[in-house]
Amino acid sequence: MLDVAVVGAGVVGASIAWRLSQAGARVRVIERSRPAAGTSGASFAWVNASAKSPRDYFELNLAGLREHQRLVEELGGAPWYHPGGNLVWVAEDELPVMERRVEELLSWGYWAEWQSAQDVQANLEPGLRCADPTARLVFYPEEAWVDVPLLVGTLLDLARSAGAEVIEGDPVVAIEVAGGQVHGLRLRSGAAFAVHAVVNAAGPWAGRIAGLLGLPLPLAPSAGLVVRVAVPGEPIRRVLHTPIVNVRPDGPGHVLLHHDDADAQLGDRREVEAHDPLSWMLLERARQVLDGLEEADVVAATVGIRPIPADERSCIGAVSAVGGYYEAVTHSGVTLGPLIGRLLAQEILTGEVEPVAAPFRPDRFPRG
Ligand SMILES: Cc1cc2nc3c(=O)[nH]c(=O)nc-3n(C[C@H](O)[C@H](O)[C@H](O)COP(=O)(O)OP(=O)(O)OC[C@H]3O[C@@H](n4cnc5c(N)ncnc54)[C@H](O)[C@@H]3O)c2cc1C
Repeated sequence: MLDVAVVGAGVVGASIAWRLSQAGARVRVIERSRPAAGTSGASFAWVNASAKSPRDYFELNLAGLREHQRLVEELGGAPWYHPGGNLVWVAEDELPVMERRVEELLSWGYWAEWQSAQDVQANLEPGLRCADPTARLVFYPEEAWVDVPLLVGTLLDLARSAGAEVIEGDPVVAIEVAGGQVHGLRLRSGAAFAVHAVVNAAGPWAGRIAGLLGLPLPLAPSAGLVVRVAVPGEPIRRVLHTPIVNVRPDGPGHVLLHHDDADAQLGDRREVEAHDPLSWMLLERARQVLDGLEEADVVAATVGIRPIPADERSCIGAVSAVGGYYEAVTHSGVTLGPLIGRLLAQEILTGEVEPVAAPFRPDRFPRG
């Protein structure tokens, strides 16, 4: 039986661990903190392909979106998965660019529709505040958002039921190699295991894990802020992007806010209080685009670090410099997690690489 260690219990590691255990591998997931404590617990968690270019990265994300739908069917219900689509309110001066983008997406077979603000208010989002009824929004009906901690918890439970062990609160500190092949792993507690393969799914810390093998993995991480707000009623039903703030539901009585402007103002800060001016800025902006937020209050603000390989493309698969060493490091990891889980398990167990993932091999980076 193949012994595999998965380093990191975020959405990517949990997905890989489940698919590997389901296929019969003996899996240990090693998490230095607790599941979803990394970027996966600080994500806007919008499942999409509409914001993805060039074409091969779009196709990868489209396959990721479809994999979520397939997972829902396979498991016969998915309380973490929230379909309903995504609305993008387009600023007047951005309309020509967006028109070209929608044409392109339609020509790639992606489902996109133009809607007037008036129609959106009547049919989709009654709480949308928009003075101009003719303002235009793009609707992507197939997109969704995910409760990531719930998904990660479920995947790890499924992995455990298939025989996996999940070790929490104990970081990997060494990976042993003999004869060019991974053969062991050591944790900070002193625990050590023999393994045939190691998967680096350590998100923004993946560079350190690669460094344990002397294989530099260049990352260009960036910080982002999400703000959770307690709200009366249901001011929003689906993902909404506007020029000043992005909003989505976040379970009963809550919405989640994000915007690049707040990310840009974070600077070096990695912790933000709920009542920080940046959190209030996002709430004030949300009040401008949605009704019913007068009594809303910020309950949490979380900074996450996006695990972005230096060329801004996903890094998925075997690293040929060391036998048995695999990487799964990516931005858009919520969209891609379940797909990467299936594809990487297949590669580890059979050596087969599906064409959709072929342009994203880790070997494109020079390794020391
Ligand atoms: C603000 C923001 C908004 C985002 N919005 C979206 C979005 O809308 N849609 C989307 O698809 N993606 C989005 N992303 C990106 C997405 O959240 C990430 O790509 C994804 O969560 C990465 O998951 P992961 O499992 O690779 O990493 P992580 O969730 O970070 O998991 C890695 C795990 O490895 C563990 N670890 C690290 N070092 C060690 C070690 N030495 N030993 C053991 N364990 C270790 C960590 O503790 C961590 O739990 C967003 C990210 C941010 C920050």
